[in-house]
Amino acid sequence: MIQIKTFYFNDLRVCTYVLWDSSKECVIVDPGCHTQSEQERLVKFIEETELKPVKLLNTHGHFDHVMGNAFVAKKWSIKTYIHPLDKPHLERALMQSELFGYNIEQPPLDTVDIDQGDKLSFGNSYLEVLYTPGHTQGGVSFYNKEDKIVITGDALFSGSIGRTDLPGGDYDQLMESLLNKIVKLGEEYRVYPGHGPYTTIGKELATNPFLHYE
Ligand SMILES: [Zn+2]
Repeated sequence: MIQIKTFYFNDLRVCTYVLWDSSKECVIVDPGCHTQSEQERLVKFIEETELKPVKLLNTHGHFDHVMGNAFVAKKWSIKTYIHPLDKPHLERALMQSELFGYNIEQPPLDTVDIDQGDKLSFGNSYLEVLYTPGHTQGGVSFYNKEDKIVITGDALFSGSIGRTDLPGGDYDQLMESLLNKIVKLGEEYRVYPGHGPYTTIGKELATNPFLHYE
């Protein structure tokens, strides 16, 4: 069974997830750790839980989700897995974060391409890639069928959906990703979004106003 630890990092409160199983191998999703104390909190948790990070996964390339990429990749000598269409965001991460008043370290660009259907393993477990563009062109979700969990990045939030007014955003494409991919996973799936509290597909189908356009 996969275990999940949630951190809320940086001023934009990105959800950074650590997922591991009984083998103690783990993946780190969207490391948003920015300050030294945030980095220390992540390291302390990994060390105290005796985990071994094997992959850094990005749901998408927006600067708030990749602020800690450089730190995590170097600290544990692991590669960054991201959809190729969001790699341009990594290349522009310094410039974009400066526009918002942040100074970040350049995320590594020697990334591993991921796409729909890929299986990303850690220990005895794996996450499958669901290509869910619309918030960005290379946005993906990560899910596991056995444990019925899905990490949606900024595609789906509890009670809301991701912005589509930023460069690369497309409302119709995001709705297509939500209604024909994420929601189709099944009502019992637990949803771990890029910001805010976790939820379930069932709860979102019942209460999320964006899933009720006719
Ligand atoms: Zn985003």
